Amino acid sequence: MLGLSNLQSLGFDDYFAEQMAAFSDRGWVPARIAAEGQSSFHLIGSRAPIGDLPGRLLHALGKLDRPVVGDWVAVTDGDERATIQSVLERRTVLLRRAAGTLDEPQILAVNVDVFFVVTAVNRDFSERRLERYITAVWNSGAEPVVVLNKIDLEAERGALREAIGRVAIGLPMVEVSAREGTGLDDLRAHIGPGKTIGFIGSSGVGKSSLINRLIGREVQAVGELRADERGRHTTTARQLVELPGGGVLVDTPGMRELGLLDDVGGVEVSFADVIELAEQCRFRDCAHSGEPGCAVEGAVASGDLPAERLESYRKLVREIEAAERKRDPVIASRTKARWKAIHRALRAREKVDPKLKR
Ligand code: GDP
Ligand code: ZN
Repeated sequence: MLGLSNLQSLGFDDYFAEQMAAFSDRGWVPARIAAEGQSSFHLIGSRAPIGDLPGRLLHALGKLDRPVVGDWVAVTDGDERATIQSVLERRTVLLRRAAGTLDEPQILAVNVDVFFVVTAVNRDFSERRLERYITAVWNSGAEPVVVLNKIDLEAERGALREAIGRVAIGLPMVEVSAREGTGLDDLRAHIGPGKTIGFIGSSGVGKSSLINRLIGREVQAVGELRADERGRHTTTARQLVELPGGGVLVDTPGMRELGLLDDVGGVEVSFADVIELAEQCRFRDCAHSGEPGCAVEGAVASGDLPAERLESYRKLVREIEAAERKRDPVIASRTKARWKAIHRALRAREKVDPKLKR
């Protein structure tokens, strides 16, 4: 095991330390999953670089509870191999749930503190798409930072900034050029020792280019993960990378290839403006579709709220309701805990950001 300060720089904080305390009499130590195989995992933070997940644990764990990149686990350490004994409860979970299907949700990333939501000046900018990404990040329990990339290109940046501002209410935004290296310090201001970060955004916006800039080299380390106990060979790219200057990057293929994120939830945060208006509706359970004294529709009529914004709010609420119906109870209870965190975050932001309190 590394010294505590080293563990802390990898993101091991009180939240995880408290969970480890329960195992203190067993001699288990914490480690973080850096790459996944079938039943063997790359670890950082432990002496052994590889951890094996015993079959009984593999079978006892639900599909969504098996260790993934970013997880903290408790292990019995060794010189070459460690044995994973327990997976610590995750602080944040970014889920992908395909809307309108019965597909099981898929875990894209866990224990990420800050997600950079990347968009680029030369891409078709969609407020709705950005809204979705931000919503998904809030729902994961992490904090979003909006990144506008490719500012070296000619573009009507003023209008774009305004459009982003309408959706990313009160969120930090940084403007960068991965090509020219401008704005990288503004990006790094959100990264540091102990912080775990991730990048999401549509394909082509420059996520890989930004990641390469942060890592400081073109080709990323590929760690070989070999020979699980059945002798099956697996080669997996290391997906948890320590950044120069501190901080840890989670970079799983699922996140990179993510097109449109069909996650749901986090609506209270992404639509803080609609929610605030809704509080002035005459009826508490107003659906904002023809009820008398509806402040939301009133704002649309007077031009204070764009009609498309109400439309996408309605669409998201419908999707959430549909998803809730088929959501399994385990996820439902986790979601509940996350909502609490989201509301706490929202209240905290309201205090510091007067823009939220129009
Ligand atoms: P990803 O799909 O989000 O990972 O995007 P990539 O990093 O692969 O970038 C997509 C394309 O955009 C590549 O051709 C990059 O060279 C280009 N690109 C990335 N960042 C910038 C930038 O800041 N300015 C310009 N002009 N092009 C960029
Ligand atoms: Zn209403």
